[in-house]
Amino acid sequence: MKDISQGDIQNNLPLVTQPGSVRPVQVGSVEVGGKDVVAMAGPCTVESRDQVMRIAEGIKKSGAQILRGGVFKPLTFPYGDPLGQPDRDSDGEVLGRTHILSKAEQMERAEKRFVYLREAGDAFDLPVVSEVLYADGVPMMEKYVDMFQIGYRHMFNFDLIYALSETSKPILLKRHYGESLRSLLGVAEHFFARGKKDLVLCERGVAVPHTHNVESRAVIDIQAVAALKEYAPTIPVVIDPSHSTFKRSYVLAISRAGVAAGADGILIDVHYDPENAWVDPLQALNFEDFGTLMSEVKGISEIIKR
Ligand code: PEP
Ligand code: MN
Repeated sequence: MKDISQGDIQNNLPLVTQPGSVRPVQVGSVEVGGKDVVAMAGPCTVESRDQVMRIAEGIKKSGAQILRGGVFKPLTFPYGDPLGQPDRDSDGEVLGRTHILSKAEQMERAEKRFVYLREAGDAFDLPVVSEVLYADGVPMMEKYVDMFQIGYRHMFNFDLIYALSETSKPILLKRHYGESLRSLLGVAEHFFARGKKDLVLCERGVAVPHTHNVESRAVIDIQAVAALKEYAPTIPVVIDPSHSTFKRSYVLAISRAGVAAGADGILIDVHYDPENAWVDPLQALNFEDFGTLMSEVKGISEIIKR
């Protein structure tokens, strides 16, 4: 893997490495990269209308500014796609195995869950972000979301790069755990070269020989925050302490560290019943812990005088 050379800056990354101060990206009514550290919080997966409403209310009370909620889930294994489940009932029906959904079935079922996400965002005045999996799903999603998330698995998906370059909504681009900042900025340069500049970069951990956690796959690269600020000073950077640590008890500490290092935002999985979340139950925070995280993050951003 290569580091970024002077030649790269001149020839391969001329647009994203422009000097200057951070250019805030507008997500609905919220600025990412402005004065405030922005918390994008919510369920890993939208399970029902009631679930996402309750979570939107809970995160809003603690001061989150953007609601995150996955609908299309790029699962590691083919079973248990949340889109194949009936909506979670109020007793908290637990995810079971489902049949394998065709893409057409996924698209059809997803729209209903995007409606729930939008309704919850509107009810609590929170712009919404959700992951995009398919270029031909972009027009449907664009009706409901304020920001498209590109998950780490899709960092190099050129169908998505081309389709999203044509949209008017901003993009949250995650770095793959095995990819360099050079590659991440290369993807950002593809967007910039197509005139798509409302981009936020997300650090979600790198692969290392061991992670201090039997379940997890990555360790967050705090240095990446500082390095991205140096190489691409105009582009806002956020970190995802939930999907990198994959462990609830690490999320608070890593959020503090990321904000202290200069991150413009954090992406946090939150659920009122974390142990029974359909996806990623080991990492979601409950409302109380999320409240603690928000007040500590606020304290840190005051100390570093953002
Ligand atoms: C997510 O944010 O829900 C997600 C699946 O992210 P990642 O691509 O980082 O795994
Ligand atoms: Mn998740």
